[in-house]
Amino acid sequence: MEKTASVNILVIEDESDIRTMLVYNLRKDGYAALGAADGETGLRMFREKKPQLVILDLMLPGMDGVAVCRRIRAEAGDGGGHTPVLMLTARSGEEDMMEGFEAGADDYVAKPFSNRVLLARVRSLLRRSGIFREVSEETDGLTVGGIALFPERREVFVEGAKVELTYGEYETLKAMMRRPGVVFTRNRLLDLVRGALHAVTDRAIDSQIVGLRRKLGPAGKNVETVRGAGYRIVP
Ligand code: CA
Repeated sequence: MEKTASVNILVIEDESDIRTMLVYNLRKDGYAALGAADGETGLRMFREKKPQLVILDLMLPGMDGVAVCRRIRAEAGDGGGHTPVLMLTARSGEEDMMEGFEAGADDYVAKPFSNRVLLARVRSLLRRSGIFREVSEETDGLTVGGIALFPERREVFVEGAKVELTYGEYETLKAMMRRPGVVFTRNRLLDLVRGALHAVTDRAIDSQIVGLRRKLGPAGKNVETVRGAGYRIVP
């Protein structure tokens, strides 16, 4: 069963009955839900609250749903992850639906909709987008090869003892722990830490791995070198 408690959902809908009902039902299902009555407010809340999913009505006064969706897509760029948008359309009309998809919506529900159908769509969208997995990783952490990593707190433990890592070491470890056994090339690791460190080179990645292994102590041996390919973490 997926955890809904840490998933924030923003509902942008001008009709207050529908908005209130949606927020109420989402909360009853365990989500943290917030409502906005127009597009401008919705966008502001999107920036401030960083929801994991947006339910967006197509027909809004002022800035309409399509414009809001385009802005969300434009702002969620630069690798900051894809926030799924579930569009509410007034009719099951193909034009509305197409307009929504073209603006970057991930799915749509036609009004009038049943609460059960809407919640099922929300759940499937969150699952498809990997958000349930990310949320449980954030709160429960990742455990591989005697190492426990908690993204929410940015903390790493080996055998119960906290380990202090640099930004680059932490990001490298997290990426590898999310995919145990998968080989990460130096280039891939470079991409992860580029921007944070200036002048990152292959050598810097190698010395970062050396530092990581040393700091991980007994668990350091689980960070393996794959000759001629890169690095990986093994359970
Ligand atoms: Ca409306």
